[in-house]
Amino acid sequence: MKTISILGSTGSIGTQALEVAEKHNFRISALSANTNISKLESQARKYNPECVCIYDKSRYSQLKQNLSDTNIKILSGMEGLCEIAYSVKCDTLLNSVVGMVGLLPTLKAIESGKEIALANKETLVAGGKLVTESAEKHNVRILPVDSEHSAIFQCLQGNRREQLNKIILTASGGPFFGKSYSELENVTVADALNHPNWSMGSKITIDSATLMNKALEFIEAKWLFDLEPEQIEIVVHRQSVLHSAVEYKDFSIIAQLGVPDMKIPIQYALLYPDRMECPTKQLSLTDYGTLTFAKPDYDTFRCLTAGIEAIKTGGAYPCLVNSANEEAVSLFLRGKIKFPEIGEIVSSVLEKFPYTEINSYDDVIKADSSAREYVKNNVKLNI
Ligand code: MG
Repeated sequence: MKTISILGSTGSIGTQALEVAEKHNFRISALSANTNISKLESQARKYNPECVCIYDKSRYSQLKQNLSDTNIKILSGMEGLCEIAYSVKCDTLLNSVVGMVGLLPTLKAIESGKEIALANKETLVAGGKLVTESAEKHNVRILPVDSEHSAIFQCLQGNRREQLNKIILTASGGPFFGKSYSELENVTVADALNHPNWSMGSKITIDSATLMNKALEFIEAKWLFDLEPEQIEIVVHRQSVLHSAVEYKDFSIIAQLGVPDMKIPIQYALLYPDRMECPTKQLSLTDYGTLTFAKPDYDTFRCLTAGIEAIKTGGAYPCLVNSANEEAVSLFLRGKIKFPEIGEIVSSVLEKFPYTEINSYDDVIKADSSAREYVKNNVKLNI
């Protein structure tokens, strides 16, 4: 029986992973949540893990009390996430926490030799060099959970990596596809949270509306598949059915298709290399009839342009744009800035910060906090 731990088990990816785990009778060794203790408690009662971790330390004693009639060990904070990542035994650790928080637990899991199913983009965006070098050193496999990267990973199976020309990373285009920059001025939080195809958490849904999500995935793809930025083409595909593709030397393009449901890539990462029935719908191509493809609008979606520029320049820039984006999205969600300002803030980081290298976890932390501080000190709030 396969054993998995899930960091971020109460979020969208985490709950769908538990559905997949249940379908295939996995054992759950550990679960963690950011703040939602009631959901974490009910998951703990249902799946009976060895331990659970609540990241928000102020909720630790409440959770401990709520689960006092069980033998489940209760952990908290970053130490708790790292203890799960490093010390709690499992076959695969699914990292689906949101944001930069995910990086250190990923590094700890790699050091302990655990296979990682990675749904935390920031791990590779901010710490791509550290993570890939460490994974190579410890001979650890990183299995992508993001639907696009899972698609590319699937298209690489059975082919020669050195015969790859480029990858085609598809983007839904988000709720504001076709709009001009000036039309984005007055979009509301509700408009931005209304994604046409995918149901996801709020941070990633805003990132999909600004196309920052695609910029993060571009960076993630560069590290996961060891690509040059010039080998990554972004194509807007509104139906989110073709999840990405690979072009080989002979100009054959191999793509992976399926309904837009994260349970397919989650299951592929957790069962790799096996394929079994997934708890989702089958794709009917004739129900769709038409699949469309278009170029992205780099002038309107400035986060996309800035993110690609950041990885082309390298060093700390991917980390800086990611952290500035996290702050900007949080300000937007709280009604403090307008939608286009997210792109302006993220782009400005490229001009304001000099080039620096990332050679250690401390370098990542330094870049992360300087970008956050920059946003806090330089953004005029509409309050
Ligand atoms: Mg994706």
